[in-house]
Amino acid sequence: MLKKITVTLDVEDLRPSRAYEDRSKMMTERVLDIFLEMGIRATIFVVGDLARRHPEMIIRASQEGHEIGLHSHKHIPLQLLAPQDFEKELKEAKRFLEETTGQKINGFRAPTMSLTYKTRWAIPILQEAGFTYSSSVLPAKNPLYGWDGTPTYPFRWLNSVIEFPCPITNLFGFNIPYLGGAYFRLFPSLIRKMGIRRASTKEVLWTYCHPWEFDKDEKYYQLDHVGRLTSRIAWIGRSGMENKMRNFLRDTSAASLGDIAESMDLSSLEVVNPESPVAGIEK
Ligand SMILES: [Zn+2]
Repeated sequence: MLKKITVTLDVEDLRPSRAYEDRSKMMTERVLDIFLEMGIRATIFVVGDLARRHPEMIIRASQEGHEIGLHSHKHIPLQLLAPQDFEKELKEAKRFLEETTGQKINGFRAPTMSLTYKTRWAIPILQEAGFTYSSSVLPAKNPLYGWDGTPTYPFRWLNSVIEFPCPITNLFGFNIPYLGGAYFRLFPSLIRKMGIRRASTKEVLWTYCHPWEFDKDEKYYQLDHVGRLTSRIAWIGRSGMENKMRNFLRDTSAASLGDIAESMDLSSLEVVNPESPVAGIEK
């Protein structure tokens, strides 16, 4: 049987300065057109600051049946933020999205999977701000981010929100988030099929993509918060992205992360204490 895969889209503006052309609205609308044409209902995590500049694209996404979530206020990785600033901006952005779309905003995705042991202070803040789930952890060792020891299937943070960890698969000894980003764009579909086949039935599988990945005409610039190599990789394979995604979406069908969270029996989820250095599971 085909495993169900939830489609998620992270809507962000990665330009290091406003001197570069803002193509985020145009490209988001392009991706919304594809979703509409293919009958896909996605979870769309939006950067709050960008939503304020282009509220009409978020209203459209909401009206077309997508779940709207928050992808931080300005796409700054959590480790570069002070907890009190994060809290203030998080609550303001959530309120703005709720007022703009009329939807309750339940989901949060940290920029660059930056919810790690180091930034565990963010977890109680998410709960306090009224989120019910997060989708912000890479459950493996990784030089850039990652929280080794956390489960690869949905779990609940102690006294806090549900976490939908990023799907990973092992390739030549590395745990890679194979269902999205550069891994989706640049790796052959064989890797995805292998990872999906290997995934346990406890996992909630989600793919993640970004409107800029579909933009083959954007001029190169160096991205903030990452090295030159990562910046270069962000420009590779964009011309094939739309076809690749269309082919993949034909095989996907799943509820939004918010609907999955809502249908879960919370008492059946494992509870993870973020204070434990290896994110020990509380029995
Ligand atoms: Zn992002």
